[in-house]
Amino acid sequence: GRVATTIRDYIRTIPDFPHEGIMFRDVTTLMGDARGFRMAVDMLVHPYAGRRIDHVAGLEARGFILGGAVAHQLSTGFTPIRKKGKLPARAIAEEYTLEYATAVVEMHDDAIQPGEGVLLVDDLLATGGTAAAGVRLIERLGGVVIGCAFVIDLPDLGGRKRLEGMGLDVHALCE
Ligand code: IMP
Repeated sequence: GRVATTIRDYIRTIPDFPHEGIMFRDVTTLMGDARGFRMAVDMLVHPYAGRRIDHVAGLEARGFILGGAVAHQLSTGFTPIRKKGKLPARAIAEEYTLEYATAVVEMHDDAIQPGEGVLLVDDLLATGGTAAAGVRLIERLGGVVIGCAFVIDLPDLGGRKRLEGMGLDVHALCE
């Protein structure tokens, strides 16, 4: 069949998930397609090839899939940023606000060494609350966030402005 040529062609939109009125951007169709996944990982890696990245940190859960592949391409280690209570060893935590609640993300306290360069990866940037909490975890351990890479940026929700306002480099494959 016809070969899709842009990242957007591979992303499926599900109306009213997880709540009525939400247009959920579904990247499982992107990751499930051989060319789509290849293209996405290559494009996520592209700006960081040759940069000093020591670790990729992926946000649970789709950031694990994308971030693992990116880490392999950059020949770095991978570290997971998980939801509260999932990590087995000693961890540090950061809280962030959702629309009507708060959530907590955690990282092992020995995952990053002071001075290491870290690339943060997730599937989608909305308000930036999740990514900002991930950045705080990395920086508390002394890591230097070289960039924050996403497949999708939803610009109306302000995440890019928020992260750039923190002095961070933001890279997204599509809006
Ligand atoms: P933020 O914290 O508001 O930037 O929301 C981003 C987080 O919510 C990421 O971890 C995303 O995986 C998730 N998320 C929010 N909306 C969507 C969506 O439409 N599709 C997939 N993930 C989403």
